[in-house]
Amino acid sequence: MNITAENRKWLDDFNLNHPLVIAGPCSAETEDQVLKIAHELKDSKVSIFRAGIWKPRTRPGGFEGVGEIGLKWLKKAKAETGLLMATEVATAAQVKLALEYDIDVLWIGARTTVNPFAVQELADALQNTDKIVLVKNPVNPDLSLWIGGLERLYNAGIKKLGVIHRGFSTYEKTKYRNIPEWQIAIDFQNKFPDIPLIIDPSHITGNRDMIFQVTQEALDLNYDGMIIETHVDPDNAWSDAAQQVTPTRLKQIIFDLTIRKETDDADDYNNRLSRFRVDIDEYDRKLLEILGKRMKVADKIGALKKEKNVAVLQNKRWNEILGKMILDGEEKGLSEEFILKIFKAIHQESITHQEKVINN
Ligand code: PEP
Ligand code: MN
Repeated sequence: MNITAENRKWLDDFNLNHPLVIAGPCSAETEDQVLKIAHELKDSKVSIFRAGIWKPRTRPGGFEGVGEIGLKWLKKAKAETGLLMATEVATAAQVKLALEYDIDVLWIGARTTVNPFAVQELADALQNTDKIVLVKNPVNPDLSLWIGGLERLYNAGIKKLGVIHRGFSTYEKTKYRNIPEWQIAIDFQNKFPDIPLIIDPSHITGNRDMIFQVTQEALDLNYDGMIIETHVDPDNAWSDAAQQVTPTRLKQIIFDLTIRKETDDADDYNNRLSRFRVDIDEYDRKLLEILGKRMKVADKIGALKKEKNVAVLQNKRWNEILGKMILDGEEKGLSEEFILKIFKAIHQESITHQEKVINN
């Protein structure tokens, strides 16, 4: 795939600001709701209006979207406000309808990106379109699937491409609805620097109070834009109520964001620093995970020593370990002083763990 600067030209062609702001409700609900929101967003930094017409619901029984009639409302909203219109498509039939109603931006949802058959069906239906097509990351943290989705569209002759980072599913409950896994989006960005990268803080957080912070983090990582669910009456929205913000709040969020220019030297420094920090954070997380695992082994050793009535402190073994660590550390550019300090601390913690087990 030969992605070049051509692929970000649509941002300029449409005179879309940096950062690009896409906003609008999770779902189109009524004509009145669509028009009201679009008018409130009209004279702001928002250039693209979003609204789901067909909603992929995890379980049946939820609101599944208004369907074709919603496209009429979007068309009307575009005529009245001049905003570009965006919606999600998941089948060839939906693509056909969206094109008939001249929707400007089509996005592929996270539950569709996971399925190569479905993405290929969309790519075929969109063949050579000059519409903007955005690919959301798949729900599972798989960079290849995300790239594969983009490649299928690129191979179908679609040139105005972009990707949306909406976070990834986890079984465990976290403070996010979908954990960001920033590293995956950064890997994507490093591989395809000319594909615009857009943050979806609404689906990442699932919580309107966290939208600002996640958007700022993304801008610090040099993202090109944001897609934020916005509703005139968020609490009574028919889908994703907890994460939608009002147009007034959206404008405040945009006003408060620190927007970094791409060309400035100082910003280049900040962007690179932020990426390094993501790496550092990831390594620190791994360090903690490994230390936790190490102490669990210490607990098992403690249990064994208790069973055999053996003393916790085994000085000979400890001195051997330390000597080896100093040599290994030197090879990795780590000073003896640092190795001594860190392993003494680890050893101490290990002894504390074993003692706890033995005396229990
Ligand atoms: C949406 O944008 O409303 C949506 C359904 O998103 P996702 O595909 O990221 O879940
Ligand atoms: Mn939604």
